[in-house]
Amino acid sequence: MGRTIDYSLLSIGLKNRSLCTRCGTCTGICPEGAIYLDDDFYPAIAEEKCTECGICRETCPGAKVNYQQLASITFGNQPDDDSFDGYSKLSYVGYTRDEKIKNGGAGGGIITGLLWDLLKHGEVDGCLVTRMNPDKPWLGQSFIARTYEDLTSSQGSKYSILPHNSILAELRNLDGRFAFAGLPCQIHGLRLLADKAPELKNKIYGIIGLFCGGALETYVVPELLKTKKVSPEEISDFQFRGGDWPGKMRAVRKNSEIVDMHYSDYKDGAYNYFTFIYSPMRCLTCIDGSAHFADLSVGDVWTRDQQGNYRFKAHSRMLARTDRGVDILMNAINRGTIAAEDVTSDPHYKTHRAQTKRKGINVPLRIQRLKKKGFSVPVYDRKVPDDATLKERLSERMVTAVHFITRHYYLRFPLTKFLTSRYSIPLIIIRRWLKRRKYRQ
Ligand SMILES: Cc1cc2nc3c(=O)[nH]c(=O)nc-3n(C[C@H](O)[C@H](O)[C@H](O)COP(=O)(O)OP(=O)(O)OC[C@H]3O[C@@H](n4cnc5c(N)ncnc54)[C@H](O)[C@@H]3O)c2cc1C
Repeated sequence: MGRTIDYSLLSIGLKNRSLCTRCGTCTGICPEGAIYLDDDFYPAIAEEKCTECGICRETCPGAKVNYQQLASITFGNQPDDDSFDGYSKLSYVGYTRDEKIKNGGAGGGIITGLLWDLLKHGEVDGCLVTRMNPDKPWLGQSFIARTYEDLTSSQGSKYSILPHNSILAELRNLDGRFAFAGLPCQIHGLRLLADKAPELKNKIYGIIGLFCGGALETYVVPELLKTKKVSPEEISDFQFRGGDWPGKMRAVRKNSEIVDMHYSDYKDGAYNYFTFIYSPMRCLTCIDGSAHFADLSVGDVWTRDQQGNYRFKAHSRMLARTDRGVDILMNAINRGTIAAEDVTSDPHYKTHRAQTKRKGINVPLRIQRLKKKGFSVPVYDRKVPDDATLKERLSERMVTAVHFITRHYYLRFPLTKFLTSRYSIPLIIIRRWLKRRKYRQ
């Protein structure tokens, strides 16, 4: 008979998948290499290797996110603030001056520009970044970039679930200092290493966070390809925001032919509805949309003028939160790597109106409601707003209902097919008209 493991000592993904963020921290941190990932990037355990040391549970951000604890690890005595943006020292808007990096970015190529600045000036030996897996281009993977070419190949947003922190297993065997770029949940896991694995923590020079409205399930790309009758084996790459800013989802065939997955672009096309349909419930119950515990967070700048046109096409917004974040940003500006404008005291740059609502009102309402119904939900040390309007309550219920209904492939796939087909063009036109009307008011 095999031995019995005490599962209460293990990370949440090994006990309750609905709370797992699939950030990969448990796989990366396990000193015995006992935790591996299955095809959907959930952790699984090789029981014979596990010593029940408990480190995977202590660094797991799935079941509980304690803002006070994370703030004290990240900022010391400075508490986080509970706005959507969170605590920051400086706020800038800009883009990377290197044309190739700028054009390859999801926004202004700022993350890659900052990483390149660190690498080029010898402040780090490598960068922990991501790309679409060359062998399975419908899935993302992490890797360590050490050259300009590596970094440009890591550009762009991979919106499907990616267990980025599993790269810590590789980091364990390397000497040197490394910069990390990643999503809020991945950063929660990384920050929890602080006193649990100082040998790993000390190798991380700086953490650059991405704003995040939620990732998408691992099956999103195969299903999108299916709507266009393309088999996953036919493609060499998949871009979630390929082409001109703000980009669109598209596949690259092995013969370099580009196949668009939908009409219009990332902002007005099918992607808009994908967070309801393809985001796991753990993302729909996450309240950190701006990577509160990064040294420096980067997001898109969606500020529009009164005609509804974007004021900062292909720019990124930067929030420097720690002294290290300020150094990374100011050095890159002073060395001429990035062009950036200080907007610290300009209120117009709090532009994530929809996300502020989603993360600040919809998500807490959802957590409260699902908890009452007996579902597992993550625990936060934050108060749930008690002043939500009827419209906000209805909108939360609608998103949750769509999410549950579309868990069934036979309901989800026809909807995806419709949203990516020409029959959805009227939706795009209505959306654009509504946006223009909103900004004229
Ligand atoms: C799942 C997801 C949701 C997002 N939601 C929002 C949002 O709601 N609002 C918003 O303003 N911005 C959001 N972003 C961030 C935005 O899409 C841009 O990535 C960001 O603005 C940086 O652009 P850039 O041109 O500066 O970076 P680039 O130069 O294009 O570099 C992108 C960097 O991000 C890393 N990266 C990409 N995908 C992942 C991933 N899945 N996990 C870990 N690292 C990754 C790459 O390795 C690379 O280092 C999201 C990104 C992702 C991946």
